[in-house]
Amino acid sequence: MSTSRGGYRVAAISNNKNLTMEARLVIGADGTYSKVARWLKLDSNNPRAIMYAAEAQLKRENADIVDVFLGRRLAPGWFGWLIPLNKNTCRVGICYALVKEKRSPKELFERMVNKFPDVFRGIQIMRCTGGAVSLGQMPKIYGPHAMLVGDAACQTKPISGGGIYPGLRGAQLCAKIAVQALKEDDLSEKGLARYQNLWEREMGREILCGMSYRENFLNFSDEDMDLLIRLLDKPKWLKTILQYGDIDYPSFLANRLFVLNPVVRGLFKRICHTPSPLANSVVSPRGSGVSFGSEAET
Ligand SMILES: Cc1cc2nc3c(=O)[nH]c(=O)nc-3n(C[C@H](O)[C@H](O)[C@H](O)COP(=O)(O)OP(=O)(O)OC[C@H]3O[C@@H](n4cnc5c(N)ncnc54)[C@H](O)[C@@H]3O)c2cc1C
Repeated sequence: MSTSRGGYRVAAISNNKNLTMEARLVIGADGTYSKVARWLKLDSNNPRAIMYAAEAQLKRENADIVDVFLGRRLAPGWFGWLIPLNKNTCRVGICYALVKEKRSPKELFERMVNKFPDVFRGIQIMRCTGGAVSLGQMPKIYGPHAMLVGDAACQTKPISGGGIYPGLRGAQLCAKIAVQALKEDDLSEKGLARYQNLWEREMGREILCGMSYRENFLNFSDEDMDLLIRLLDKPKWLKTILQYGDIDYPSFLANRLFVLNPVVRGLFKRICHTPSPLANSVVSPRGSGVSFGSEAET
């Protein structure tokens, strides 16, 4: 990419042919290691969640139950997951984040599979993948004649690492500002700053709260985690979880439990406790069953 009068000149390769394109507005949607962000000097040192995941053949009695695997050594700073797609096929994965880790996520994955033989007996990996998801709020996601979107703009959920929903929401906001800016013929840095304002107004608190919970989680011992799970596995709290849980706004439920439950408050000590934008709306439950396996139990 290089600057040209009124925008950028972008060099690309398409069908083995070199192309040069002129663009008044460039939108960098090129993922976690965005070259566009680097070129615009917008890349940041935000932490990354490092993942290994696979689609596997694995028999599950109950395809409505998702398993979550926790443990400071098992999945440092994060969790492992097993999500049945049906009674014979599952998505399985593991991740570490916000800690120094010598082992690769694939090694962590193999360790998890060996650690829970009853769960993973007979597993056949069909396809595997991996990658990184950037976490937290990026300082700046726009520049003159340019905006970033999706993982390139760190539009991800710090509690789960999911980037599909926030990335799509970011794309809607980015498109809205792009249309306005092109109509008004104002692609200046100041004009495009509206994109970051909109994004932060809608998702900023969610991301800050999510990061705050995630960072607190690093101080949990496995015994703390077991205590928390045992405590929340009670009808009263399960009802609260069903009532307020929203997969796309997880800090809403986390904040609710923080306010209502003294043990949660005791464990999560330094929370950036700002209410979610959904705090006054009714959130419909969307979850299915979740079971937890933790290293301390084995
Ligand atoms: C293992 C794993 C599991 C995940 N599971 C979930 C999940 O269950 N739910 C969820 O919500 N999120 C999940 N995520 C996160 C989610 O995948 C991302 O947040 C989402 O894909 C981001 O979309 P994106 O379009 O911004 O970036 P990407 O999906 O990374 O797409 C970027 C695109 O840009 C292209 N590109 C990059 N550089 C160049 C270049 N120089 N020239 C041309 N093209 C280029 C890439 O080839 C790619 O096609 C997972 C991530 C990982 C790693």
